[in-house]
Amino acid sequence: MHPENQNALALNINNLSVKYGDTPALSGITLKVNAGDYLGVIGPNGGGKSTLLKAIMGLVKTASGNIKVSGHTPGYLHKNIGYVPQTSDVDKSFPINVQEVVLTGMLVRGFPIFRKYSQKEKEAADNLLNEVGVYALKKRHIKELSGGEFQKILIARALAVNPGLLLLDEPTSSVDANSRDQIYNLLETLNARMTIILVTHDLLAISAHVGVLACLNRQLVYHGKAELNSEIVSNMYNCPVDLIAHGVPHRVLKEHVHD
Ligand code: ADP
Repeated sequence: MHPENQNALALNINNLSVKYGDTPALSGITLKVNAGDYLGVIGPNGGGKSTLLKAIMGLVKTASGNIKVSGHTPGYLHKNIGYVPQTSDVDKSFPINVQEVVLTGMLVRGFPIFRKYSQKEKEAADNLLNEVGVYALKKRHIKELSGGEFQKILIARALAVNPGLLLLDEPTSSVDANSRDQIYNLLETLNARMTIILVTHDLLAISAHVGVLACLNRQLVYHGKAELNSEIVSNMYNCPVDLIAHGVPHRVLKEHVHD
C-alpha cells in the first residue's frame, strides 16, 4: 500500500486520548492498521485495551484525536465493524436463545430486539452458526452454554454485519483448550477476508497466530512485528503483561520490574 493512501488503512488512529472523569485511560495513541492485518493487543490490566476497542466502536467519548475505519469516522455500532465484547460485559441471564443472539447482530440501532426477523435473516444467522461450528445449539438458551460455545456465538453475532474489521476482547479468557484452538483456527480463516484486532492475555496467540503486535500501557508502548526476539522483548520492557503460559516457553515476555 502506498503510505499516502491513508484511506486504504483498515484503521487509522491519530493522537487518541480517552478519559473516564479525570482518569486517563488512553493518552496520545497513534496507531495504523493495514487492511488484512491480524493485530494482537497486549498490556497490563487497566492498560486501556478494552477502552481502545470501545473507542473504535464509538462506545466511549474521546477526549482528543480521531479514528478512521477504512477512511470513515465510525459512529455508534458502525456497520463495517464486528465487535466481540468481553463475556463479563454480556448478561447471560437475558431471555434469548443462540439464534436470536446472532440475529441481534443484524439490528440497526433503534430497532427493538424482539422484532420479527425475516426467513432470509434467520438463514443468514444459521449460516454464521454453522461457520463458527455451533449450529446444533441454535435453539439453546444462552445461559446453558459453555464458555467456549458462548464465545463462538458472540463471534457469529459480530460477523452478522459482514464486517471488514473484527475486534475481539479476550475471546479465549474463559474457554477450554479445545475451544481456544478452534477459535484461533476460525480467526485465521476469517483473517483471509477481514482485518482482525485481538485483545488478549494469551501468549499462544501472540507467538503462534497474530502477525502484528501492539502493547498498550495507557500509551502505545510497542507496535511492530509479533516475533518475540530479544530486541523486541527489550523494546517491550515497559509493557508488563499478565503471563498465561500455554506451553510456549521459547517465547516469553518478561514482566517489567521497577527498580
Ligand atoms: P484493560 O482492558 O487494558 O484492562 P480498560 O480499558 O478496561 O483496560 O481500563 C483502562 C482504565 O480505565 C482502567 O484504569 C479502568 O479502571 C478505567 N475504566 C475502564 N472503564 C471505566 C469506566 N466505565 N468508568 C471509569 N473508569 C473506567
